[in-house]
Amino acid sequence: MMQINRNFDNLVPNYLFAEVASRTNKYMQEHPDKKVIKLGIGDVTLPLAPVVIEAMKKGAEDLAHKDTFKGYPDYEGYAFLREAISNYYAGFGVTVDANEIFVSDGAKSDCGNIGDIFGKDNVVLVTDPVYPVYVDSNIMAGRKIVYANSNRENNFAALPDENVKADIIYLCSPNNPTGSAYTADELKQWVDYAIKNDAIILYDAAYEAFITEDLPRSIFAIEGARKCAIEMCSLSKTAGFTGTRCGYTIIPRELERDGHNIYNTWYRRQATKFNGVSWPVQCAAAAVFSEEGQKQIKENISYYQDNAKIISSAMDELGIYYTGGKNSPYIWLKCPNGMGSWEFFDLLLNEANVVGTPGEGFGKNGAGYFRLTSFGDRENTIEAVERIKKLLSK
Ligand code: PLP
Repeated sequence: MMQINRNFDNLVPNYLFAEVASRTNKYMQEHPDKKVIKLGIGDVTLPLAPVVIEAMKKGAEDLAHKDTFKGYPDYEGYAFLREAISNYYAGFGVTVDANEIFVSDGAKSDCGNIGDIFGKDNVVLVTDPVYPVYVDSNIMAGRKIVYANSNRENNFAALPDENVKADIIYLCSPNNPTGSAYTADELKQWVDYAIKNDAIILYDAAYEAFITEDLPRSIFAIEGARKCAIEMCSLSKTAGFTGTRCGYTIIPRELERDGHNIYNTWYRRQATKFNGVSWPVQCAAAAVFSEEGQKQIKENISYYQDNAKIISSAMDELGIYYTGGKNSPYIWLKCPNGMGSWEFFDLLLNEANVVGTPGEGFGKNGAGYFRLTSFGDRENTIEAVERIKKLLSK
C-alpha cells in the first residue's frame, strides 16, 4: 500500500502567521474606519534598485535573440556571478573562492534542502527561538532535534553547551526573529564546539548586510570555520529579491565528513534536483554586487535601518528590554507588564491598531516576547511607534 512520509505527522502545525492574519482581518472587518499598520511581516517593501532592473531587462532581451539566447545554466551558477560574490566577500576581508559558491533560488531552499546530503541519524541543534525552516525540514527527514536556549541571560544569542552532542548546527546571525548578532568570540565558541564534535555548522547569513557594528559578516571570518561550516546567504533582504529569488551557498572545498567531500556531495544533489537560476535573475544578482549596485542597495538598507532606529528608540524611551534593531531589521521586545505574546498582540491590535508577530510562534523561549520589523514604510513606522508610545505610557 502506498504510504506518505509519516514524519510529516510529527510536524507541529504552525498557526502563527495564519492566526495573525485571521485576528487582523477580523478586526479590520469589524472596524473598517481604522487604519491598521502592519509591522509583522518579514517581507521587504522597497522596489529593486534601478541598476538591478536594467540588468534584468538586458538579460530578458538576451533571451529574445538567437545569438544571445541562454538555455540551462550551470548547476552551480554562472562564473561571473560567483566571481562577483567572491569579490564582495573580499570587500569585508573574507576569502571565499568563486569555485566554492553555488547560486540558488534562495536561502530557504538551501537551508531546507541541504539536509539531503546528511544521514537521518544525525542530531540537529537549533537555537530557540528559531526560524521554523530549520526545524520543520529536519522533522520531515525524521531527525532528532535538540535546542540551545536563547534568552535574556545571553541576550538571545545562545552559546554551545559542552554536555549537548550535535552533528548539525543551524546558526543564524543576525538572527531571525531575535535580531541578535554573534560577536567573533561567540562564533569562535561555536566553531570550536563543531570541530570537537565533528559537526557541521549551517550558517544562515541572510541578514549580514544589516550589520553596522564591528561583527563578523560571515562564519568564514572565524578561524577554523573552513573545517566545519557551510554558509547560506540570500539577496532577499539585502537587495529586495524576495519575489525575484536568488541566494547562494558556500562550501569550502576542503570540507570533508565520513569519507566524503561535502562540496562534491552537494554538487551531486543539486545536479540531480535543481536546474539553476534563470539568466535574467543571475544578471540582476550580479548587478547587486557592482559598485553602483552596492551604492543603490545600501540606500534601501539604510532606509530600513532608520526605521529600525525609530522603533528601537521608542523602546528605549519606554524602558522596554529588546534585542536587535542595531544590526538587524528586527526588534525583539519583552512584552510589557508580564503580558503573554498573544495578549500583547491583541492589545496592540485593538488599542493602537498595530500588528506585530507574537514571539511564541518561534519557540518556547519566545513566550512573552514580540517581533516588530523595520521593513514597512517610513510614515507608517513613525505613526505606529507614536501610537505604541501613547498606549504604553498611559
Ligand atoms: N533565512 C532566514 C533567517 C530568513 O529570515 C529568511 C526569510 O525570511 C530566509 C532565510 C529566506 O530567504 P530566501 O528569501 O532567500 O529564501
